[in-house]
Amino acid sequence: MKISDPQFINILSCPLCQNDLHDRKDNMACEQCGMSYPIRTSAIYLAPKGDQLLRQYREEARSPINRFKALIKTWPWLFDILTLAIGSVSFFGQSAKTTIKKTYGNNTQDKIIINIGSGISRPHPAALNLDIFPFKNVDIVASATALPFKDNSVDMIISESTLEHIPDGETAIKEIMRTVKPGGMVYITIPFLMPFHASPNDYMRLTHEGLKQKFSAFEPIKIGMRGGPASALITFLMYFFALPFSLISESAYNFATYFFMVILSPLRIFDLLFFLFPKSIETATIIYFVGKKKNI
Ligand SMILES: [Zn+2]
Repeated sequence: MKISDPQFINILSCPLCQNDLHDRKDNMACEQCGMSYPIRTSAIYLAPKGDQLLRQYREEARSPINRFKALIKTWPWLFDILTLAIGSVSFFGQSAKTTIKKTYGNNTQDKIIINIGSGISRPHPAALNLDIFPFKNVDIVASATALPFKDNSVDMIISESTLEHIPDGETAIKEIMRTVKPGGMVYITIPFLMPFHASPNDYMRLTHEGLKQKFSAFEPIKIGMRGGPASALITFLMYFFALPFSLISESAYNFATYFFMVILSPLRIFDLLFFLFPKSIETATIIYFVGKKKNI
């Protein structure tokens, strides 16, 4: 699916008043509230101007570590390689890509799959990336708390380690439940045992039972660890060893966490072993939830 596809244009709605949008070539217009949203060749901008959330994100993104991260993210391939090579999380559990393949096989052409809080990573060629920041590879610039889609219109929503960064995560969850079609799917990952990590801020954790409860409109299909107990331990230790550096400055502390991440990251291999133990999910670093929307 492309953002220019009429099937996709047809599901768009005004993020402010949820009325239908009309295609005006270089913008999408709402006749109800008069807002117009620009369409560029690379992306469609549906984040309300002056949105308080967007302003807050922009402010937080100015810290040195977040600016460093943003710099790395201008090269998506470099970011992906770094995450794989020296990250703190093993990501051995079921991925978004595998979930899309298992659900649709190769028949993804007419499926609307939205990846919320994508950053620069596209999990599958068929997925449309949505983010509040216009990073590279973002197709839809919009807020997760005011999704620009009609009720029951999206085939699948993916959200990987994003909900914890949204100040009003509860509203984002309600928006996902509103926009996915009955019978449609979600693939959600969220940290469980992970220290505070601002990107650009951090507000929430959920357990495997918490995910089931929050996404109650969805029948759980599969719940598991995306990153296991070894990843949880590494992430804890990298922040733990960096603590003394916080006496120097916040930047020194932030950069120390990255230093210890590089040192400790080979230990992630132990997660392969932990995936054999049924109780590992109780000390996992990131949990995933695959759900199918119930017919109400
Ligand atoms: Zn409107």
